[in-house]
Amino acid sequence: MSHSINFENSYAKELNEICEKCIPAGFQEPEFILKNHSLAEELGIDSDFINSEECLSIFSGKSLPKSSMPIAQAYSGHQFGHFNPQLGDGRAILLGEIQNKDIQLKGIGQTPFSRRGDGKSALGPVLREYVISEFMHSINIPTTRALFALKTNETVLRETLQAGGVLTRVAKSHIRIGTFEYARSKNIQILKSLTDYSINRHYPELNQIDNKYLSFFAAVCDKQASLVSKWMSIGFVHGVMNTDNMTISGETIDYGPCAFMDKYDPKTVFSSIDHNGRYAYLNQPAILVWNLAKLAETLIPLVDENEEKSVKQLTEVLQLVMPSYQEYFYKEFGKKLGIRNIDDKNIKIIDNYLKILHSESIDFTLSFRNLAKIVNKSMKVEDSVFRESKIFEKWFKAWKKEINVGDIFHEMNLKNPCYIPRNHLIEDALKHANNEDMAETNLMNKLLESPFKEKDSYEKYTMPSSSDERYVTYCGT
Ligand code: AMP
Ligand code: MG
Repeated sequence: MSHSINFENSYAKELNEICEKCIPAGFQEPEFILKNHSLAEELGIDSDFINSEECLSIFSGKSLPKSSMPIAQAYSGHQFGHFNPQLGDGRAILLGEIQNKDIQLKGIGQTPFSRRGDGKSALGPVLREYVISEFMHSINIPTTRALFALKTNETVLRETLQAGGVLTRVAKSHIRIGTFEYARSKNIQILKSLTDYSINRHYPELNQIDNKYLSFFAAVCDKQASLVSKWMSIGFVHGVMNTDNMTISGETIDYGPCAFMDKYDPKTVFSSIDHNGRYAYLNQPAILVWNLAKLAETLIPLVDENEEKSVKQLTEVLQLVMPSYQEYFYKEFGKKLGIRNIDDKNIKIIDNYLKILHSESIDFTLSFRNLAKIVNKSMKVEDSVFRESKIFEKWFKAWKKEINVGDIFHEMNLKNPCYIPRNHLIEDALKHANNEDMAETNLMNKLLESPFKEKDSYEKYTMPSSSDERYVTYCGT
C-alpha cells in the first residue's frame, strides 16, 4: 500500500492577496527520469509512494492531492537594473508545503503570470538545474533542491523543438526581494503581512526583538552576504542576480544562465544577454548590496513611522553588508587555503594567490587540489597548474609559514572540490540525455554527490575543457 502525500498551504491561506489560485493543466504521458530518494526521505515522503502511479500523476500535474491548494505567486523585480512591476510564477505552480518546505512544479504550463510565455520548460534546463542545485547542496551552499525531474514526452518550442521537462523544486520558501517589491506596490498592510509571514517562517527568533523589521533586514543581509561569499569560493557565477532571483531565506535560486568559472578571471560572464558584465563573477558582491538596497526601500514604512529615521536606520545596516561580506569571503578562502587566522598578512596571501591564478589564467578549481598535492609532495610544481608562474615559489614559502603543513592535505581536500559541474561536462551529459541516454547525467550526479572525494578512473571529470571557446549560457530556457 502506498501512502499518499499531505500538503500544508500557509502561503495560499495567509498571503492570498499576492498569489493566484492555479490548477496545473498537467501532461498526459509523463515519465520520471530522476528521483531524489534521500531528499524524499528527508521530507518524510514514503518510498512506496515515490514508486506509485499516484506520485507520477501528482508531480506531472495530472491530478491534485486533496490537501493541496495550488497557487502561482506574484512578484515584481529589478531585472538588469530596470523595474518590472509584474513578473510572478509564469511557469511554476506551488503545490504547498511539506515540513515547512515549498514543493513547486517548474515547467508545468501556463499560469495567470505567464504573460506571453508557454509556462513550460525544456528538458535540458530541468536537468541542468537538478544537477547544479544538488551539487550546491552537496558542497554545503544554501540552495533550493531538486526532488524529481520528469520528461513530459511533449515538445516545447524554443529556437528549435525540444523535449519538455518538469522539475519538482523544494525550497525553504520562494519569497524573493521581488515579492517584497510587489507587496510594497500594493499597500502597507499586505507588506506587513508578507514581512510577518517571512519572519515567522524564516527568522522566528526575531519576534522577541524590539524593532523586528529592522532586524529582519539585517538578518537577510547577513544570510545573503554569507551566500555570495560561498558562491565566490567555488567560482560560481549566478548570471542573473535580478531582485526576483534573490531569496529572503538566503538560498540560491534559479539556475538559469549560471555557470562555473574555469580559468580564474574576475570579469567572467557566461550569460548571452549580460553585455555589460553587470553580473560578472567579481561584480556579484556589489550587486548583492544593490539588491539589498531595493529590499531596504520596501521596508521603509515598517521600520519607523518617521521616514527619515527609518531610512537612516536601514542605511546603517546596508552599509555593513560589504564589510560583512568581505569578512565571510576571507574566511571562506582562508578555509580553502588552510589559513585559520584572518589578519592583514593572511589577507595579502589570499589576494596574492588569486593574482597568480589571474595572471597565469589558471583553472580555479584545479588550482586548490594541485596546491594540496604540492604541499604534501605528491605532485611537483613543474607538473602542476602553477608551472609557468615565476612568483609561485615565493608565494608558496610565505603561505607555508602560515599553515599547519602536517594536516593541510586533508584539510584542503575537505574544503576544495575536485568535481564541480564543469560547463563542458554538463553540456555533454545533457546532449546524451536529450538522446534518451541518462548514463552521463547519472554519473555526474554520483560524482557530485561527494565532490571532495577523488575517485580512481574519473580523472577526466576533474579537468577543464581542452577547448578555449567561450562558454555561453541562455536565459528563459
Ligand atoms: P527567470 O529568468 O527564470 O528568473 O524568469 C523570469 C520571469 O519570466 C519569471 O516571472 C518567470 O516565471 C517568467 N518565465 C520564464 N520562462 C517562462 C515561460 N516559458 N513561460 C512563462 N513565463 C516564463
Ligand atoms: Mg526567476
